[in-house]
Amino acid sequence: MSNNSYNFNDLMDKNENRQYIQITSPLDNSVIGKVPALNQEEVDRAIQSAKAAFPSWRNVPLNERAEILYKAANILLEHIDRLTELLVREVGKDRKSAGSEITRTADFIRFTADTAKSIHGESIQGDTFSGFNKEKFAVVTREPVGVVLAISPFNYPINLATSKIAPALIAGNTVIFKPATTGSLCGIELVNIFKAAGLPEGVLNIITGNGSEIGDYVVTHPDINFINFTGSTEVGIGISEKAHMVPLLMELGGKDAAIVLKDADLAFAAKNIIAGAFSYSGQRCTAVKRILVVNEVADLLISHLKEEIQKLQVGNPLEKQVDIVPLINTKAADYVWDLIEDAKAKGAQLIYGGEREGNLIYPTLFDYVTTDMRVAWEEPFGPVLPILRVNSIDEAVDLANQSEYGLQSSVFTENLHDAFHVASRLEVGTVQVNNKTERGPDHFPFLGVKKSGIGTQGIRYSIEAMTRVKATVINLS
Ligand code: NAD
Repeated sequence: MSNNSYNFNDLMDKNENRQYIQITSPLDNSVIGKVPALNQEEVDRAIQSAKAAFPSWRNVPLNERAEILYKAANILLEHIDRLTELLVREVGKDRKSAGSEITRTADFIRFTADTAKSIHGESIQGDTFSGFNKEKFAVVTREPVGVVLAISPFNYPINLATSKIAPALIAGNTVIFKPATTGSLCGIELVNIFKAAGLPEGVLNIITGNGSEIGDYVVTHPDINFINFTGSTEVGIGISEKAHMVPLLMELGGKDAAIVLKDADLAFAAKNIIAGAFSYSGQRCTAVKRILVVNEVADLLISHLKEEIQKLQVGNPLEKQVDIVPLINTKAADYVWDLIEDAKAKGAQLIYGGEREGNLIYPTLFDYVTTDMRVAWEEPFGPVLPILRVNSIDEAVDLANQSEYGLQSSVFTENLHDAFHVASRLEVGTVQVNNKTERGPDHFPFLGVKKSGIGTQGIRYSIEAMTRVKATVINLS
């Protein structure tokens, strides 16, 4: 074995005197597995292994890299039942969403391989500038960046890991993958699937461990060439401050607004908004996190919202198909509960919910939320939805833009002129017209502005981000 050799499965199996982190299910707190808490020397070994594998992996022909990805997509689907069950247990997802996370990920992998085949370089002639002629031209190609550090959050442990790993690999990069602790059992399965599909040793390396021991170490490691992070704004800012001269892609928090104008189809808007706010208990970056509605139609919208929110199924996804599941951990539930208490204390009108059983928080809707309330601005990552009433379209746009976040926003209106007018003024990466805020399809560009992110994801965009342009200038004169 060379010094660069790194095999995560060996670290899992060895019964040495090491620290493990227990993974517990958010559904019943049962222990469902354990992962090794790596030390810095082991993380370094993983990075050296990725670095050593890079020169040969980048030279594997694109069509062969693509074949490995197609195979990985097939294997993923072969294991859909088992992985669905794991997603339900590990991150508390309902079965339907868990199953669709797997199929969507398989589609993502295939589309990534297809897309890479159609990314061509270009040649640029020099004679557009005076003093140059056609004899001087640039051949522009794309090259992999090297070792990509992929850090993913807990909420889509298969899909949001793959959305970094697959574009990185197809571009010829090697990868260090750090899953969220809750979600790392899914992450390990995913890596094993890529390996079973034929990925050579060292190309994809998973690391697990405590943030305090390895977090700073890995993001500041001199052999990391690119960081692709999805997670909270707080952690993202910390990483961007520490990662010195390393290009970053960051998908961070959000406070997505659904803006409802006077001529909206209110029944349709309410149905969309409730689904967008509460599926997976709102633990989605693009969940609808506030409603900005013009006064004229607020009462009517709220009566439709009440009708829809009552239909949500609450409970344990191991027992039935539900929309509202226990939150990922007690810290997350306490945070949401504090927002609810703050809104109540400051006079918001509770329309629905406002109850809690352990980490299960019932879907909660507040009217008359004002800008002094925390829930007007903070990302709950849980099932609480504030309604802020506004007097005009301008006020809605101003309030939407006052957020420090800028991920997505929805506008509900039957008036195309207003829709475009509002869309053009919103400081967000994506505006949804008559649709809930959501991610996907995965080949659409996906980005946050302000404190919601850096750079653009989406299949083609992610591949391009994790490559760099090389200009080779030819002089024939
Ligand atoms: P988190 O920020 O707590 O953790 C994200 C990842 O960062 C995890 O893998 C975690 O282990 C790792 N991490 C934590 N501290 C670190 C450190 N010091 N150095 C290196 N890595 C570190 O986020 P979470 O709770 O897993 O996910 C929820 C958050 O993610 C929400 O804010 C949500 O909006 C955001 N999110 C954003 C998107 C998006 O596309 N914009 C998608 C999903 C989730």
